[in-house]
Amino acid sequence: MAVRLVRDCSVLEVPAAGEVTVAEHRDIEIADGQIIAVRATGEPSKGVGDVVDGTGLLAIPGLTNSHTHSPMVMFRGAAEDVSVEDWFNVRIWPMEVNLTPERVRVGARLACAEMLLCGVTGFVDHYFHADQIARAAQELGIRADIAPTYFSSSGAEGRAAAFDAVDAILALNDPRIRASLGPHSTYTVTEKDLRITADHARDLGLKVHLHVAENMDQTRSSVERLGVTPIQVADRTGVLDAGTVIAHGCGITPADIEILAPYADRTGVSSGPKGYLKHALDPVTPVRGLLDAGVTVGAGTDGAASNNTLDVLEAMQYIALATKQQEHDVMALTISDALRIGTRGGATLSGMGSTLGALEPGRRADIVLVDLSGVHCRPVHDPRAALLYSARAISDVHTVIVDGLLVVQDHTLLTYDLQEILSDADAIASELLDLSTGGAIQHYAP
Ligand SMILES: [Zn+2]
Repeated sequence: MAVRLVRDCSVLEVPAAGEVTVAEHRDIEIADGQIIAVRATGEPSKGVGDVVDGTGLLAIPGLTNSHTHSPMVMFRGAAEDVSVEDWFNVRIWPMEVNLTPERVRVGARLACAEMLLCGVTGFVDHYFHADQIARAAQELGIRADIAPTYFSSSGAEGRAAAFDAVDAILALNDPRIRASLGPHSTYTVTEKDLRITADHARDLGLKVHLHVAENMDQTRSSVERLGVTPIQVADRTGVLDAGTVIAHGCGITPADIEILAPYADRTGVSSGPKGYLKHALDPVTPVRGLLDAGVTVGAGTDGAASNNTLDVLEAMQYIALATKQQEHDVMALTISDALRIGTRGGATLSGMGSTLGALEPGRRADIVLVDLSGVHCRPVHDPRAALLYSARAISDVHTVIVDGLLVVQDHTLLTYDLQEILSDADAIASELLDLSTGGAIQHYAP
């Protein structure tokens, strides 16, 4: 259902720098999926499409999940209170032996439903059977940038299959579905493969999306084995130059930030501290240092096997809290910084920095209406603070518009039967956790 007007809402104004502000009693006018005007509430103009009543609601730019493994919602809560090593080697990688295209499709639908209902209008994904994720995203009407993932342990064929999966996504020719190159990480993919991947990305005009310096132990191990940090590996293999989404980067050093800065126009970092706090890892992503160096930071949830939710608003809250605590400075990440990370930052990492991430004329109409009238938000002295620190996305996101199309209305998913998604997921949940087949898709030894 195409929307032509969101009437009489408040609007979260997110500039590229400086304070985020709220303008009250605004109409957002939309044509062909594009915002054409944001103006004081007036008489509705004539045109094609529906009018959405925004009375009492705050319109915010659609949030972007800038690093996730969406089908891993199927492993939610299945690897708790374990070390990182056991999380990979005893739980997740042995369970991922059970992945099939059909199971990935079911998981991706569940993930897309959760994200849309939480105000996430686009996600930057990194996983296997990527064509199935793309189809699920199309079915539910969410944007996606999907990186088909491979390990060097699967040989040249594994790499070629991932490249073929990129071609398959591009062949969908859907402006809402994009592709990136997805080597798993700098510790599971050889430098030769990273170089080939960076060259391929440059040839296709696409980005690379991979895990780099996920934690400081990986950085220490890399320096011991290779004499260089994971960021230096990404640099000398051409990955940073190709343009890259770096997942996590908790092990990025101050010297690494200086290496990243010259690539800031095309390479950024997705931060999602919740999983790292759960794994008792210290430090988290050096968000303040990256922002000061001009490097884009987005909010990501990682997979729900470690983060438990795909809630980007929650990830923004964690980024603010973890950064303040890490820097011992209340101003290390302000509300404006956190709101910009989840909106403009994520949009930039998804390759849509000039067309998404703010509610401004000329940008695509990815709009989320949030209801801040709940008991946990009242009284609303500062809607920006209520949004970041009091709101709960799953209960407070009221309406979601993607590319001018209404996909969630009054907390209800319009594009797919949610009950069917839930029962499909429940039906295969135990099969995915079955370890009787034996083996693992990879071994964690960074
Ligand atoms: Zn990840």
